[in-house]
Amino acid sequence: LVSKKWKVEDTVIDLGDGVRIGTGHFAVMAGPCSIESEEQIASTIEHLQANGIKIMRGGVYKPRSSPYSFRGLGIDGLKMWYEQTREAGIKIITEVMMTEQIDAMIDYVDIFQVGARNAQNFNLLDALGKVDKPVLLKRGISGTVEELLQAAEYIFSNGNERIMLCERGIRSYESAYRNTMDLNAVAILKEKSHLPVIADPSHGIGVRRFVDKIALASVMAGADGVIVEVHQRPEKAFSDGQQTLSYKEAERLYSRLRQTYGLR
Ligand code: PEP
Ligand code: MN
Repeated sequence: LVSKKWKVEDTVIDLGDGVRIGTGHFAVMAGPCSIESEEQIASTIEHLQANGIKIMRGGVYKPRSSPYSFRGLGIDGLKMWYEQTREAGIKIITEVMMTEQIDAMIDYVDIFQVGARNAQNFNLLDALGKVDKPVLLKRGISGTVEELLQAAEYIFSNGNERIMLCERGIRSYESAYRNTMDLNAVAILKEKSHLPVIADPSHGIGVRRFVDKIALASVMAGADGVIVEVHQRPEKAFSDGQQTLSYKEAERLYSRLRQTYGLR
């Protein structure tokens, strides 16, 4: 169902208020790894508005390698975030970690993100197939392209056709950086599937000073959008600061992304 053999025209996802994602509608989603405070949300929104960005990312449920790391503000954080974004006309993308969270989250979310660690949580995928909200599905940490497509098939076959496929880097033997951004997958997914393909260069390489280059390369490889981590003070971020752009770095990237998309 997610193959071009099934549906010839590319899927464009309409979030309302003129925000569209897919072929011909390049999307930038930006924001912190974790939602941290009211003040941080306000500062991020100001940054996004100044740059014409309509979709804010951020986690309120964080999958952390260590249980002692910051694990997010939870549903109260999401509600606080939602209030601020509605006033600003900004859309929310945030990670749902388990089926039981969906009902409480659904009224406050514009896009559900499925994290790499849940890429084959088939119960979660089934459940997201039954909701009326778009889903951004990340590739598993050691997942193949075929496994990503099959995971999308779970959601689609349950009735939810508004899915984005996200390449966020895979685990390899290389240790010079955090993950290996697989640009091959971006090109191949774009050929195989009618669904929008989103690149996550922040997790894809995991090193701040290279995020811009990998973001631009992803667009040339065919990505319909990017999701990037930005923070007012990346070195103070509660999570993933080492791969998070400052506002100034992010601004340079946004303008180059728009140019690059035009060149494609
Ligand atoms: C994130 O987007 O912050 C995140 C946890 O991503 P991933 O699931 O790709 O590791
Ligand atoms: Mn992160």
